[in-house]
Amino acid sequence: MMKDYYQKLADLDKKHFLHPTTSIKQQQENGPEFIFTEGKGVRLYDLDGRSAIDGLSSLWNVNIGHGRDEIAQTAYDQMKTLGYSSCFATFSNEPAIQLAAKLAEIAPGNLSATFFTSGGSESNDTAYKLARHYWILKGQPERKKIISRSKSYHGVAMGATSATGLKPFRDFTNSLAPDFCYVDHFSPEALREKIESENPETVAAFIAEPVQGAGGLHIAPEGFFKEIRKICDEYGILFITDEVITGFGRTGTYFGMDHYDVAPDMMCFAKGVTSGYAQLGGVMISEDIHKDLIELSEGTLLHGYTYSGHPMACAVALKNLEIIERENLIENSRLMGLELLNGFKQVQKQRSIVGDVRALGLMGAVEVVKNKKTNERFEDPLAPKIVTEAAKRGLICRSVVFDQQDTVVFAPPLTINQGEIKELIEILNDAILAVEKTVATTSAL
Ligand code: PMP
Repeated sequence: MMKDYYQKLADLDKKHFLHPTTSIKQQQENGPEFIFTEGKGVRLYDLDGRSAIDGLSSLWNVNIGHGRDEIAQTAYDQMKTLGYSSCFATFSNEPAIQLAAKLAEIAPGNLSATFFTSGGSESNDTAYKLARHYWILKGQPERKKIISRSKSYHGVAMGATSATGLKPFRDFTNSLAPDFCYVDHFSPEALREKIESENPETVAAFIAEPVQGAGGLHIAPEGFFKEIRKICDEYGILFITDEVITGFGRTGTYFGMDHYDVAPDMMCFAKGVTSGYAQLGGVMISEDIHKDLIELSEGTLLHGYTYSGHPMACAVALKNLEIIERENLIENSRLMGLELLNGFKQVQKQRSIVGDVRALGLMGAVEVVKNKKTNERFEDPLAPKIVTEAAKRGLICRSVVFDQQDTVVFAPPLTINQGEIKELIEILNDAILAVEKTVATTSAL
C-alpha cells in the first residue's frame, strides 16, 4: 500500500516538479531518492520508513536541528496574531524591530542596521545594489564593479549568479549582469592586482565567504582576511562578507568572520538565522554607512521585497537565536567540530583514497584522491558515488566536483552529539570502503 503511494508520488514528482539544482535526466530515470516526511534532531525520516543523519543540515541551514516544538509554537502564535503586514514606508512590526536590534548586538564590528530579505540570493543582490547606491550618494557613481573570488558561491538571483566565481553556475545562462569580476580564490595580492587593472575608482566592493561552502569548502589561509581588509581600506572599497552559510554558529563562533577578527562594511546572511524553519535573510550595514545613508539620501530607498521584515519569519528567527544561545550550540559546534575533524583523520588513515580533510566548527570536507602523495585525482570523480553509498547506509552528505574537485562536504546540525558524530564517521568510512574496493589506487596507506 505504502509502496503504491510512494510510487504515485514519485511519478507525480517526475511529471510536475522541476527540482532546484538537480539533474533533470537523473530525476526522470530514478525519481526522488527520499520523500521526507519528518525530521527530529539530526535525523530525517522518509515515507518508506527509512531514517538518515542529515549530515549537511539539509542545505547547511538547519542549525538547531529538526522538529522543534518551540519554533512551531512561535510561528503559530505569530501567524495567529499578525500573519503578515508590510514594512514599506512608515510601517513596521515588533518581531522585525526586535530581530534587527538583536542582530546589531551579535554581529561583527559595528554592523548596526539590517535590510531584510527572504534568503541568501536576495541578500546578495541587495548588498550589490546598496553598495552601488551608496557610491552614487557619495558622488562616485563610477564605482560599480563588484569583485568576488574564483571558487565563490553567492546564489542564483541575477546579481548573485553574476558574482558567483564558480563558472558552471554562470554558464547555465548566457547573459549576466555587468560589472562583476573575479580573482584567484586564495591570494590577497590577486585582489590588489585586479583593483589596479580595473582602475580602483571603478570598484564598489569586494565580497567573500568567510569559509567558502558550496564550492568545495575552502578555509582561508592564515592572515588572508586581515590583508583583504587592508587592501579594501587602502583603495576605499567596501568589504562585504557573505555569511549565508557561516553565520549563526556554523563554524564554532557566532559568525565566520569572528575567527579572523576582521569587521566587514556589509554582511549578507540567511539560512541559519531561522535554521530553515522560515524563509529569511538580510544584509547588515555598518554604522558609518548607515549614517552616510541617513545624511545623503533624498527620496525613497527604492529597493524592497514584499516579505522584507516578515513578522512570522522574524519571530521564528528570534526564537531560533534564543535556542542557539540557551543550549550553547555555538560552543557545541566548536567542540563537535573538533570531534568531526578527528573522525575525518581516522578515516584518512584507514582509507587509501582520502586526501586532505578539514573542518572549522561543524563545516567539514573530505577530499578523494587517487594518490595521497601527489594529490592526483581520479579521472571520474568518486565523491558522488561515496554520497550514494552513504545515503544507502543512512547518512546524507553532498559531493562537490566543480573545478576538478572531488570532495564530500558536511555540515551537520549544531546539536549533534559525540555518539552521532561517531555514527556519521562509521557510515562515511564504510561508504568510502565500498567505493575504494571498485578502484585501483596508486598509493598505499
Ligand atoms: N551565499 C552563500 C554563501 C550560499 O551558500 C548560498 C546558498 N547555499 C547563497 C548565498 C544563496 O542563498 P539562497 O539559496 O537562500 O538564495
